[in-house]
Amino acid sequence: MEDFNAANEIQDLQYFGEFGGVNPSISDSSTYTFLSAKTMFDTFEGNAEGCYLYSRHSSPMNLYLAQALAKLENTEAANVTASGMGAITSVLLQVCKSGDHIISSRTIYGGTYAFLKNFLPPFNIETTFLDINNIEWIEKSIQPNTKVIYCESVSNPLLEVADLRKLSQICKKHNLKLIVDNTFSPLSISPTLLGADIVIHSLTKFINGSSDTVGGVYCGSQEFINDTKNVNNGACVLLGPTMDSFRSASILKNLRTLHIRMKQHSYNAQYLAEKFEQDGLKVSYPGLPSHKNYELMKSMMHEEYGFGGLMTLDAGTTEKANELMELMQQENLGYLAVSLGFYKTLFSCSGSSTSSEIPEEERIAMGISDGLIRFSIGLDHDIERTYQKMKECMVKTGVLHHENTSIY
Ligand code: PLP
Repeated sequence: MEDFNAANEIQDLQYFGEFGGVNPSISDSSTYTFLSAKTMFDTFEGNAEGCYLYSRHSSPMNLYLAQALAKLENTEAANVTASGMGAITSVLLQVCKSGDHIISSRTIYGGTYAFLKNFLPPFNIETTFLDINNIEWIEKSIQPNTKVIYCESVSNPLLEVADLRKLSQICKKHNLKLIVDNTFSPLSISPTLLGADIVIHSLTKFINGSSDTVGGVYCGSQEFINDTKNVNNGACVLLGPTMDSFRSASILKNLRTLHIRMKQHSYNAQYLAEKFEQDGLKVSYPGLPSHKNYELMKSMMHEEYGFGGLMTLDAGTTEKANELMELMQQENLGYLAVSLGFYKTLFSCSGSSTSSEIPEEERIAMGISDGLIRFSIGLDHDIERTYQKMKECMVKTGVLHHENTSIY
């Protein structure tokens, strides 16, 4: 596993623009001309390598970005989509048909949860939501019609880490597909090296890193990617969540700095998590030995990229959390905003935002408390200075009672 370095793989890809530019040229076309009608027919049938027909099927820039992301995830191929949900929904609808069953981690992004819980059942696709760390229970819950185990490598928002090695063993034994959303841990975790079949990202987050677009990708075997793009029955080409070429060009440029950004996000998050834990706050971060999956994550990650940029802190109540977030924003410590992977710290209360699709009782059972703030830690240059300023906000709002005593 240590021999694989995705950053090198991406760096080794070389593209030239049409006029020798250092970036590939953007194809600003939805449709493409042919000198012969026969080639058009062959292209439609998927038999004319290097020819383009229509940009919902594929376009040069989307293929460049997809190729780079396949390198990132060590897969044969990939396909980019207009959003992370575009990737998730296309993949699940490709793999599962009416009468099929999915096993999913119960702690996943709220939009994915809503899709599995509310959108798929009318199409006769049912999902069982389970604690992803309870491997025995997962295996026991496999039914004859189960097709997929779905999880996030590091989950949103609770930062639970899935044991991808064990899950993949179960999948192989029962002939299921292991589909992993790796949005929170690009470069740190390479799910395919641990046995995953399909890896998904919301490119909106760390990979693009600029909070200026939504985007998604799924990475897998060439055969699977081709299936999703089949003009007769491919979920992605028929549902149509196509990324625009201008966006794929800008995401490809941002991907070039991902390795540097991930190290800084992780460094800063580790620093703050350690400091706030020492102050007695209820912090959760997979890089803290107190985190229940610390050892597991260590055994799965490429250490140089760290434990990621996400951290949670329990402020006690929604009111306290809101007060703290508003003050931190006023003090220019970050933005009260959903999403993650930006240069600036972003914070939001998961229960009332990105996980609000999950009913309250289920949220509580999972451990998403009302005062839980999810932080996506930014690229701050002087993290000690940030820590001091954040701590002042915590003291002012009573989240920390005074210098060294938390409310717990
Ligand atoms: N997966 C995870 C882990 C996410 O956090 C999100 C969005 O927050 C998504 C998928 C959905 O991605 P998008 O908003 O790009 O559709």
